[in-house]
Amino acid sequence: MTPFNKPYLTGREAPNISEALAARKLSGDGPFTKRCQAMLEGLLGSGRTFLTTSCTDALEAAALLCEIEPGDEVIVPSYTFVSTANAFALRGAIIRFADSYANHPNMDPASVAALIGPQTKAIVPVHYAGVACDMDALAELAEHNSAQIVEDAAQGIASSYKGRPLGTLGDYGAFSFHETKNIIAGEGGALHVNRADRVRQAEIVREKGTDRSAFFRGEVDKYGWVSLGSSYLPSEMIAAFLLAQLEDIDAIQARRLAAWYRYAAILEPLAQEGAIELPTIPAYATNNAHMFFLLCPDLETRTALLEHLKADGIYAAFHYQALRSSPFFADQAGPDTPHADRFSHTLVRLPLFAELGEDEAERIAHSVVHFFKR
Ligand SMILES: *Cc1c(COP(=O)(O)O)cnc(C)c1O
Repeated sequence: MTPFNKPYLTGREAPNISEALAARKLSGDGPFTKRCQAMLEGLLGSGRTFLTTSCTDALEAAALLCEIEPGDEVIVPSYTFVSTANAFALRGAIIRFADSYANHPNMDPASVAALIGPQTKAIVPVHYAGVACDMDALAELAEHNSAQIVEDAAQGIASSYKGRPLGTLGDYGAFSFHETKNIIAGEGGALHVNRADRVRQAEIVREKGTDRSAFFRGEVDKYGWVSLGSSYLPSEMIAAFLLAQLEDIDAIQARRLAAWYRYAAILEPLAQEGAIELPTIPAYATNNAHMFFLLCPDLETRTALLEHLKADGIYAAFHYQALRSSPFFADQAGPDTPHADRFSHTLVRLPLFAELGEDEAERIAHSVVHFFKR
C-alpha cells in the first residue's frame, strides 16, 4: 500500500537528540531551540519567531496576545482544522465562519466583508495547501475595522504572498511541525510575531504568564506572574529533531514539488475535459507542495474514487468537515458556507510526502485517470 503520508527523516534527528541529551539541557529555550528560531527568522526575514509545542498552541498564544474577550467576534474560514476556531472559542470569542472561494478552499474576502464590523477583534486566514489567501484584501478589511490578523500558516512554510513569506503578513503567524506537515518535529509549532511592540508580551504568554525570559536576559532582578499565559515551550529534544529538518528544507521541498508537478502534468487533461477540478494558484501566491488535491463532481464520485484507489493500493483522503456544519457549532447563528460544504464533499488529497518519488506519483495519477476513463 502507498500510505497517504510517510514522515520524512533526514537521518540527523537521532544524533541531534543524543547531543541534546548529552548536554543535559532538556527543557525549553536551550541551544537547539535558539538555533531553530534563528533559522526560522532567517527564512521569514522579519519579526520574531518562538517555537511552540504545536500550531494549536501558537494559535492559543495568539488569541491571548490579541486580548480576545468574551463576546468579541473572530472571523475564521469554515473549511479549516478545528484549532483555527477552537483557539479563539477558548477565550470566549463568538466565532463567525467565512465561506471559501467557489474554486479554492481559502477564505473569500467578500464573505469576510459580509461578517466584519466594529465587534470583530480578529480575522484568521488559513493558507490552505500552502497557497496564500488574498492578504491585501483581508488587510484592508482588518484595517477599516481595527481588527487584528492572525495567520494560520500551519501549512504555509516555504510559501509566500507577493514575495513575502506566509506567516509574516498579519500581526501574528502560527506554524505547525506536526508529522503531517512539510517540516516536522512529531508534534511542534511556532508563533511568529510581526509586531515589535508585542514581542515581550509573546515571551510572557509563552512562559506561563511570567517575565522569566526577561529575567534570564538580566533585564529584571526577579520574575513573577505578570499576565495570563500558559506553557507553550517545546523541550530541547523536539527542537533538536526540528533543527535537522529545517537544515534540509530545500531538499525536502524539491522532492515534494517534483511529485506535485508530476501529478499536475498527468491530471491536467482530465481537468481540461471537465472530469475533475484542479487547484488554481493565483499569481500572487506560490506553491509549497504541502498538498495535492483535486475536486470530484460529487460525493458519490469521490467515494467511488477513494475505493478505486484503495483497490490499487493507494491511500487517498478527503479533508475537513466544514466547521459551520460541525456538531459543536451547527445550532448557532450565522450564514451557511456552501462553498466550504462542497469541498467537504468533493475534495480528494492524493498521497504526498518527500519520499513518494515521481514514479509513484505517476502511477497514482494514472490510477486516477483510469478511474475516470472506465
Ligand atoms: C495542522 C493544522 C493545524 C494544527 O497544527 P498542530 O501543530 O497539530 O496543532 C491547525 N491549522 C491547520 C490549518 C492545520 O493544517
